[in-house]
Amino acid sequence: MDSAKNLPVAVIGAGPVGLAAAAHLLERGLEPLIFEAGPSAGAAIEQWRHIRLFSPWRFNMDAAAVRLLEDSGWESPRPTALPYGGELIDEYLAPLAALPAINSRLQTGARVVAVTRSGMDKTHTRNRETTPFVVRIVHENGEVRDHTVAAVIDASGTWSTRNPLGTAGLPAIGENSAADRISSSLPDVTGRDRASFAGRRVLVVGAGHSAANTLISLAGLAKEEPDTRILWAVRGPSAEKVYGGGGLDGLPARGQLGSRLRRLVKAGTIELHTGFGVASLKALDSGVTVGAVDGRTLEADVVVPCTGFRPDLDVLRELRLDLDPAVEAPRELGPLIDPEFHSCGTVAPHGAKLLAHPDKDFYIVGMKSYGRAPTFLLATGYEQVRSVVAALAGDREAADIVQLELPETGVCSTDGGTSCDVPAVATPDSAEAGCCAAPEPVLVGFPTGLTHGRSGEV
Ligand SMILES: Cc1cc2nc3c(=O)[nH]c(=O)nc-3n(C[C@H](O)[C@H](O)[C@H](O)COP(=O)(O)OP(=O)(O)OC[C@H]3O[C@@H](n4cnc5c(N)ncnc54)[C@H](O)[C@@H]3O)c2cc1C
Repeated sequence: MDSAKNLPVAVIGAGPVGLAAAAHLLERGLEPLIFEAGPSAGAAIEQWRHIRLFSPWRFNMDAAAVRLLEDSGWESPRPTALPYGGELIDEYLAPLAALPAINSRLQTGARVVAVTRSGMDKTHTRNRETTPFVVRIVHENGEVRDHTVAAVIDASGTWSTRNPLGTAGLPAIGENSAADRISSSLPDVTGRDRASFAGRRVLVVGAGHSAANTLISLAGLAKEEPDTRILWAVRGPSAEKVYGGGGLDGLPARGQLGSRLRRLVKAGTIELHTGFGVASLKALDSGVTVGAVDGRTLEADVVVPCTGFRPDLDVLRELRLDLDPAVEAPRELGPLIDPEFHSCGTVAPHGAKLLAHPDKDFYIVGMKSYGRAPTFLLATGYEQVRSVVAALAGDREAADIVQLELPETGVCSTDGGTSCDVPAVATPDSAEAGCCAAPEPVLVGFPTGLTHGRSGEV
């Protein structure tokens, strides 16, 4: 950032990772300028405020953010409690965003629609590294403004770009015209959105934690509203992956989620359809007919798409990125989290070096840094932004020594490579392995108790 030292650093998104980045920038004496598309900080989490996190508070808060908050007399929630999404906002993100140091640098209702280099498109190379960035914002009143900044940290998550229901990465035939019959990805079926689900035929599509959460909530609804029928379609040959590692899961709440789901399917409360890759949707007055690739059909009133998310790369079109061709994460991170090979929930520790792109001083962090991989955890994101901000501040040493500010209990786990089939190319170099450097692969995170990604499915 040498040439542009006096310009601010743009942070895209005021989710937990964007706000953590801002806290680290302030600690380093750099000037954050935070753009949030939603009406307030944590706008994506607001959509799933009724869902309980499976990691306890102590893993969900960033150290620099906590330092800022504590200076204002804020009291930390109980570190071992599991917050709901709503509590993460009310007890942590909202107080953080309200601090004068953050609030004065946060613009809400400000959607970033493009990032580029000042006066240069992607093809221009001369003086590129020393040319500031331009971030284009569309404000909620329709006004369009360009901001010139020294660096950009994209922490905009993936919530707003869900994967389509169709199996080939494209919308299923008829999916767009059946939009009225498709809910949000994590509806509050027993609360805010109850009326749309009570006594209806609900088809949940997908095989991840979102599906598990929604199915379990629907089972609760069906107890009170017995006419509610719960259908569940997964494209794989079984739902074993969703049931997870049970007692072997490093996060007990996550393990219990899968085990409860397994019992509900066994009891017949949830009607499971395996090998059901969605090919078509046909909206009718009486509901929607969902067709599978093999010709089977299911009738429902509403479809819940739990098909995962993908990063919005359109806004980054004028930047020079280096992304893994499959996962759409930074190239070196991709193989470490590729869902084809990983479901273990752990990842090699990584920071600025792994997250760098050919366009210097531009970083994708947080949920979006994982591209299409679903296993991101906040604790990983907080370490990413600590390292990235150190790099932007010119503190290469702090950036490269990836500190794992993670608690003692089994989080920084080493396991000779047996809990997850990490491809050989993924072995981190020693500089990135940081505090846990060891001759054998060192993985951090919370083991799920599962040993393979999709490649392990029969
Ligand atoms: C249901 C659910 C449960 C989860 N549970 C856990 C858990 O227990 N433990 C854990 O560690 N992780 C969990 N995660 C994963 C992850 O930690 C969360 O998704 C987390 O919210 C990611 O934080 P983020 O800051 O990267 O992105 P987000 O929280 O998605 O924040 C991104 C922000 O950017 C804004 N934005 C988007 N596009 C733009 C734009 N173009 N311009 C400006 N602003 C923009 C959004 O409005 C949003 O406020 C869970 C995720 C989900 C969906």
